[in-house]
Amino acid sequence: MKAASRSAILIALLLASYRSAAVPVRALQDDCGQLAAHELLNAVLWMQRAAEYRASTRQVFATARVNLERALADPTWPPAVAPPDSAPPPQRYAVIVDADETILDNSLTAAAQILAGQGSFDREAWARWEEQGAAPALEGAVEFLAFAAARGVTVFFVSNRRNEAGLRKNLAALGVALPAQPDVVLVRGECDGAADKSCRRQAVARKYRVVLLIGDDLGDFLSVEGLSAAARLAAVGKAADRWGREWLVLPNPVYGSWERALLPPDADDCTRVRAKLAALQTP
Ligand SMILES: [Mg+2]
Repeated sequence: MKAASRSAILIALLLASYRSAAVPVRALQDDCGQLAAHELLNAVLWMQRAAEYRASTRQVFATARVNLERALADPTWPPAVAPPDSAPPPQRYAVIVDADETILDNSLTAAAQILAGQGSFDREAWARWEEQGAAPALEGAVEFLAFAAARGVTVFFVSNRRNEAGLRKNLAALGVALPAQPDVVLVRGECDGAADKSCRRQAVARKYRVVLLIGDDLGDFLSVEGLSAAARLAAVGKAADRWGREWLVLPNPVYGSWERALLPPDADDCTRVRAKLAALQTP
């Protein structure tokens, strides 16, 4: 057999074995036709495989525990959400947590998106995932929720999910006990119906002294609608004293309002990647 024929057979065999491997070829190619890693690869891999991520979430919930004890003992602890002016000082204590990438780890769906070679967020797949209620918890999250409940603190879940039943099902599957009253699961569509969580935070602050906010997105702490990337950075600096005290933020390199602030609205896959490359800062 000639060397060229042997090479052709070898390449054919290699391609056949590659195509049958668990990772589809498309996962390694973007729609611009270049061989490239999926834009979410490193971020999702870090959340799933890096011990540093587990340490980070444990660190946040350990801090939350210490700070909650301090807040309960200290009448001068600053409110995490300013109560409305007319409201009497609430005697009851509350913590507000976000759900996704704060209590629930959705990296399994993001990993499936990578392996399917999908660039854009798949709303139908996400709706099925919400319905399923099978997301695992971030390390340290469930223990913190139990700790807060044992200290008599009401935990409110302020989430931009729309499927409240699915979220409740997921929390129940993780062993998180929710009270029958009040309604502690405030999803998108409640209060003013906005994605902005201010109305829901204010509704809690009218009745409770909110001593901690925990989330993975700037929108879990502030109103961020329409803020530019630069304005978001300025807002973090303006609230410098709050971080690590009454506001605790978890890392989420996969998605969030930080990403949307860098992109044109409704960007297709290629436009989105180009906008991200253009946003990189170099020496
Ligand atoms: Mg979140």
